[in-house]
Amino acid sequence: MPDNKQLINRLYAGDMLSHYEFKSLISCHNEEDAQYLFKLARQVREKVYGKDVYIRGLIEFTNYCRNDCYYCGIRCSNNNASRYRLSDEDILSCCDNGYKAGFLTFVLQGGEDMYFTKERLCGIIEKIKSKYPDCAITLSVGEREYEDYLAWYKSGANRYLLRHETASSEHYKKLHPQTMSLEHRKECLYQLKDIGYQTGAGFMVGSPEQTVDYIIKDLYFLYKLKPQMVGIGPFIPQKDTPFAEKSSGTLEQTIFLLGIIRLILPNVLLPATTALGTIAPNGREQGLLAGANVVMPNLSPLSVRDKYSLYDNKASTGAESAQCLELLKKRIETVGYRVVMERGDYKV
Ligand code: SAH
Repeated sequence: MPDNKQLINRLYAGDMLSHYEFKSLISCHNEEDAQYLFKLARQVREKVYGKDVYIRGLIEFTNYCRNDCYYCGIRCSNNNASRYRLSDEDILSCCDNGYKAGFLTFVLQGGEDMYFTKERLCGIIEKIKSKYPDCAITLSVGEREYEDYLAWYKSGANRYLLRHETASSEHYKKLHPQTMSLEHRKECLYQLKDIGYQTGAGFMVGSPEQTVDYIIKDLYFLYKLKPQMVGIGPFIPQKDTPFAEKSSGTLEQTIFLLGIIRLILPNVLLPATTALGTIAPNGREQGLLAGANVVMPNLSPLSVRDKYSLYDNKASTGAESAQCLELLKKRIETVGYRVVMERGDYKV
């Protein structure tokens, strides 16, 4: 068996591991190996980003969705979801609250809601940009046409989050209806990068039927795509979905993979996600200690927060809430990092 510390050293030196080596590292490591990985992951992130943690204000502006992903609580066939859409005024007022609190990035996330046409979203982006020209806008609205992506970019959107969800088409089919394909999702990711967006891919950890072999495919895909951002978080079941009875991904596996991703993509913007903060009370802090350098507190209006229920018990209060930024800052300081009020672009 290869020695885990040697494998971690090789990742740190910029070497990619073979499938066999990854398999051994991921499926068979102890706490000492994990701590060693995290130490090197922190060294790498500190070389690029120092002790800075970037914050993004997350605005969940619609929970209408045309897709029917088996894991997701806002899938179209969930009749228990109480659907909402924010108006332009609501969205701008979220940005206003965020801007006053010091946020310089707004993430507009939603289901694949065709009410938000290319033109409508261009209008919203332009309004935000004209009021807050020093802010970055991140979109996360799923798979759309190339011309939509291009128009939004030209209107001023800077970044785009589109998790690939799993890099195995076999696994992809187990998580999504047959109308969706990994091939198309990847095509969108390459288009987004091509247009010039700082692009984010990513996957859920511990999603149903995920194997270590699939995770290794995810790592190779990320290494090939070289996205500027990677979002990973544990899968958490949602009661109204076909996966209601499945078990959650673990904190342990999620942070171990955060550490590996930091080593294979040293400059990546890597959030300690809401899902990570949801499965463990100090999940976010543990994510930062494993190599993450971004947090995304919720800026959505309080009246709709419960409705964007991708999974059960999704955290949106306390340190997950943009209204409690002071609490978040203190908690981040306890692990030796500091929230900075900057746009927080990818550093080349
Ligand atoms: N419609 C957009 C945004 C999706 S929601 C898109 O298609 O990209 C953002 C992310 O939440 C998804 O990419 C998925 O990885 C994650 N997510 C959805 N359901 C989840 C669940 N049950 N547990 C954990 N993460 C989930």
